[in-house]
Amino acid sequence: MAPKTRCSVELRLVSMFGPGKDLNQTELPTIRQIIQYGIHLRQKAQIEDESSRKYLNNQLFSDIRDGVVKLWNKANYKFVTPIIISDQRITERIELIWNKANQYSHNSYSKKLSDKNKKYKEYTETLDLLFDLAACRDCPIQLCEEWEGCSGCTQEAHITCNCPKQKRLPSIELKFMRSMRQQRPPGNNIFKMFKSANNIVFVKG
Ligand SMILES: [Zn+2]
Ligand SMILES: [Zn+2]
Repeated sequence: MAPKTRCSVELRLVSMFGPGKDLNQTELPTIRQIIQYGIHLRQKAQIEDESSRKYLNNQLFSDIRDGVVKLWNKANYKFVTPIIISDQRITERIELIWNKANQYSHNSYSKKLSDKNKKYKEYTETLDLLFDLAACRDCPIQLCEEWEGCSGCTQEAHITCNCPKQKRLPSIELKFMRSMRQQRPPGNNIFKMFKSANNIVFVKG
């Protein structure tokens, strides 16, 4: 029973979120990319081991976390706790995303909820947003032209941040973070226009 159930769960996830995909090494993943990465890891485990029932959710969540955190560290070596949230909180949020994805992709649920349904629509609108690990998530970042009194400076962006000093974003990454936080429909890779300070890592080819 169990393998059959798991398989159909995956089909449901794929039909709603797209096929399993490894993490793109040139950008910080969105919520959708987190789910696709989870599907990818599950499918990989199944190919490698018929009895992949052993690949439990807890293992999946920590594998997803490791992959995502590695990318953040790559974008900037300062993207570690406390500038990003703790491993435990990241795992908790991945679990939440995974459970929600399963809930919303469930047949009975999607039948009840048409596209017009507000809750469903709101949910799908969050999918192409950054899976944001920054401890400072809500302080507004503005570009120089939006910032009164700056006609252009080297960091190209400003922030109104009330967070404790140790949690603040590196000022060199403000512009990058702002761009990563914009809606990123699948396939629309904006890394070329908005590189992190650590150019080497995020430039393709
Ligand atoms: Zn400025
Ligand atoms: Zn802040």
